[in-house]
Amino acid sequence: MAQGEFELIRRYFGTPELNFAHDDVLLGPGDDAAIVSLPAGFNLVMSIDTLNESVHFPAQADPFLLAQRCLLVNLSDLAAMGAEPVAFTLAISLPSPDARWLAAFSQGLAAVAQAYKCPLIGGDTTRGPLSITIQVHGKVPSGQALLRSGAADGDAVYVTGELGDGAAALWWLLADGRLNSAALDNTARQMLQQAFYQPDARISAGIALRGLASAALDISDGLASDLAHVLEASAGKNADVSQTLGAVIDPDAIPLSDTFLKCVPKSEQLALALSGGDDYELCVCVPPAHESAALAAMAALGIRFTHIGQIDQGMGIRLQTSSGQQHPLSLKGYNHFSVQL
Ligand code: ADP
Ligand code: MG
Repeated sequence: MAQGEFELIRRYFGTPELNFAHDDVLLGPGDDAAIVSLPAGFNLVMSIDTLNESVHFPAQADPFLLAQRCLLVNLSDLAAMGAEPVAFTLAISLPSPDARWLAAFSQGLAAVAQAYKCPLIGGDTTRGPLSITIQVHGKVPSGQALLRSGAADGDAVYVTGELGDGAAALWWLLADGRLNSAALDNTARQMLQQAFYQPDARISAGIALRGLASAALDISDGLASDLAHVLEASAGKNADVSQTLGAVIDPDAIPLSDTFLKCVPKSEQLALALSGGDDYELCVCVPPAHESAALAAMAALGIRFTHIGQIDQGMGIRLQTSSGQQHPLSLKGYNHFSVQL
C-alpha cells in the first residue's frame, strides 16, 4: 500500500476515540509495539478471532455494525474467562482504502471500545480481501480465570440471556425461507440485527461469577457443541480419569426470546436454540454450594440467568422430557444437527 494510503488508514485507527487512556496501557499505537503493564497479582488473558467477508459476515455488511461485531465477539471470549478488558490490537486487510467505509468502521469500533473501556493500542494494515483480526487483552486476578475444565458431577448448568437469537438473525440476514419474516415488525427486525452485529459481551457476568462458577464458556457454536467442550475438558481434569461427565438438559427450560418464538417455526425452535450458534451468551456450571450466590449476583446485574440442566456421570448430553425420559442429543458434524425427541 502506498504511503498516503497508510496515512489515511492511520487517520481512522489513530483517533482519540479509539486510542484513549487506560491505567494499564503505557504506550499505544505509533511505535514498533505497544506496552501494557498489569498490576501485581493479575494474569494476562488473550484471545484472537478473525472474521472474513462472506465466511463470517455477509459481503457488503454495514461497516459500523461489522466493526462492533468483530470487537464484541472477541470481548465475549474475555467475558467467558471472567476477565476485564485492557486493550485490543487490530490487523485489517482491505481491498482498497475507502474513506467513508473506514470512517464508519472506526466509529463503530470506537463505540464498543469505549463502552467496554478497551482502547485500540496497535495493529497492522494490509491490502487484500476484507479480513479483520482482533486480539483482545484482558486481566484477571491471578488464578481466578473461569476455565472450561472445572465442571463436576452435580453442578447445575446455567445460561445467560436467551438462546437462538443469533442463529435466527443469520436466517434473517440471509433471507432464509425457514424464517417467518412476515411476523417481524420493526422492533423485532432491530432486535435481530442487534443479536447478530451487537451481541452483549457478558463481561460483568463473567467477573461476578469468579469464585462461584466451576466452568464457563461463551456459546459461539451452539449450546450442544459448546457444552460438550466443557464436558470433555472437565472429564480430562478429573482425578479419576475413567469417570465420564455428561449433562441432562431440560428442553423446556431453554430461554427463548419473544421474537425468536414468533419468527422461528415451532418444529425448528429447539434445534436452532441448541445448535444454531452465534449467541455469545455464557454457559456456566455452578456447584450447588454457590448457586444462590450466583443467582443473586446475576439478579443484581439484571442479567437473565436460567437453570437449564445438571452435570452428571452419564454419557454425553441428553434431553430430559417432562415424563422423565432421556433422549441423546446427537450432533451431526459442523452446523448440521438433529435433535431426537
Ligand atoms: P511496522 O512496519 O513497524 O509493523 P506499521 O506500519 O505496520 O509498522 O504500523 C505502524 C504503527 O501503526 C504501529 O504502531 C501499529 O501498531 C499502528 N497500526 C498500523 N495499523 C493499525 C491498525 N489497523 N490499527 C491500529 N494501529 C495500527
Ligand atoms: Mg506492521
